[in-house]
Amino acid sequence: MSKKVFLETVGCQMNVLDSELVAATLRKAGYQLVADPKQADVILFNTCSVRQHAEDKIYSALGQLRRHKQRHPHKIIGVLGCMAQKDQELIRQRAPHVDIICGPGQLGKLLYLLEEVERTRQPQLAVSLGRADAHRPEVERSFESYDPLREPELRTNRFQAYVRTQFGCDKFCTYCIVPSVRGPEQSRHPDEIVAEVRFLADQGCKEVTLVGQTVNSYHYRFGDGRMVRLSDLLYRLHDIPGIRRIKFITNFPRDMTDDLLQAVRDLPKVCRYLHVPAQSGCDIILRRMKRMYTVAFYRDMLARCRETIPGVAISSDFIVGFCGETEESFQRTCDLVAHAGFKNSYIFKYSPRPGTKAFELYPDDVPEEVKRRRNNDLLAIQAKVSLADHRRFIGQTVEILVEGPSKWAYKLSNHTGHDAGQPSDWLQLTGRTGTDHIVVFDGPKNLIGEFVQVFIEDASPYTLFGRLSSPVLADNGEKTKEGMLLEPITLLGSRAHDNSAEQPNPAYEDRETSFSNGSRSLYQRRLSLPIVQDQA
Ligand code: SAM
Ligand code: SF4
Repeated sequence: MSKKVFLETVGCQMNVLDSELVAATLRKAGYQLVADPKQADVILFNTCSVRQHAEDKIYSALGQLRRHKQRHPHKIIGVLGCMAQKDQELIRQRAPHVDIICGPGQLGKLLYLLEEVERTRQPQLAVSLGRADAHRPEVERSFESYDPLREPELRTNRFQAYVRTQFGCDKFCTYCIVPSVRGPEQSRHPDEIVAEVRFLADQGCKEVTLVGQTVNSYHYRFGDGRMVRLSDLLYRLHDIPGIRRIKFITNFPRDMTDDLLQAVRDLPKVCRYLHVPAQSGCDIILRRMKRMYTVAFYRDMLARCRETIPGVAISSDFIVGFCGETEESFQRTCDLVAHAGFKNSYIFKYSPRPGTKAFELYPDDVPEEVKRRRNNDLLAIQAKVSLADHRRFIGQTVEILVEGPSKWAYKLSNHTGHDAGQPSDWLQLTGRTGTDHIVVFDGPKNLIGEFVQVFIEDASPYTLFGRLSSPVLADNGEKTKEGMLLEPITLLGSRAHDNSAEQPNPAYEDRETSFSNGSRSLYQRRLSLPIVQDQA
């Protein structure tokens, strides 16, 4: 009988992608994915270390599994990803019942680790080298690439996929743990990326999102000195038949080069959407964060984006309550948000991370209640800006890729067991424009995965509401079949990403507060793990 595995994912798009790949590997090895840890022989957590809150939840979930493990000692519990790399032995001290600790650069060893636990009944640890443990090439090699073949069944849907362009990060923003836990920045060979996107297109994928911590820093240098930049890669991907949309996240402001902006302007399949986190609107804070740009530079960069790419939508991230952030500094951030015209912003309260420069150098001197208040104030400013941005669409017809039932439709069908009051195949659907605006409308289920035209009638700060104008036909004039996934796969213990109306961007699923109220509940839902109840 096949072994059963439960895999819960916390964190950013990288983790969602890693989990898809882990799930594919395990399935190939004969494991069956289950949504309930009670039924699982192997319970895995793919973890995030960007904020303390994400770690606390995992420690709490591990704590709750302690008795379960005592009663079922044959079950294997594993911690994968960034916490595994960061905390290593600390996890075993705090949760000695954990059998496997596997960093994000060692996921290719997971099957071996599982076999070793079964064979020896001893805990297994596989982590990469720390950044200061060896010379760079050696550290780079210890973050092994992990790109098993993709399986469409393991994504939320087969028509959208993340594709990794880089590993790691070299920016070393002082607050951020990513360069330590994900290792040095390494760009993938462009041929590999192109081959993967072709493969995905052959599987019916229509939209790819290229992911890298600073995706626009992508550069692959060949032995003869030739270099491939992100813009060059976009040109190559643009030629792949079947791919209709290409997105890329997340961008570093300093690397927003003209060649990239021109590629976005000139390539119709590349979405006119840029996520370019500013983090703060105050130069003193930006310097402390070591972001390597000033507010004036950032504003000029925004102007350059808008000048080059008419109609581009731009979103941002901000950290409030960073060390030394005064009311005056915060006001400067409010000014930036009030005037920059972001489509949306993701706003985080500063969370000190041991192992970062900020943790070492600066006291965490903004009280929690002040962080919370600043967070809410900034959200309120962004909500006004977003509403104005959304209202521009009223009376227009937009093309969207239909992603699935809206959150409301899920709730309704969960509650009633069917789509009350609608013909059985009609429900409230949600999708996104090329500018990443979320659109909700009523339509038949079989539009999921299709490009359709929707006439926008109303807008909230989070969502556009419309009615179906006309389904867009496939290139051959027939409605395509590949999008006919009626129920999103319940994958990895919870939905890998729930593209519902209230969630503006799947990029960060671990955010504690974002512009969207829905993200908060998503965060809680993803982390409020289905806790295993011990039999009395
Ligand atoms: N690489 C991306 C970039 O540079 O924008 C994002 C990486 S990080 C996983 C996502 C967001 O988390 C960052 O943009 C930042 O706003 C936030 N973040 C990172 N470290 C944080 C910390 N210590 N406390 C609060 N927020 C943090
Ligand atoms: Fe972290 Fe800065 Fe790298 Fe983004 S660019 S991952 S915030 S260090």
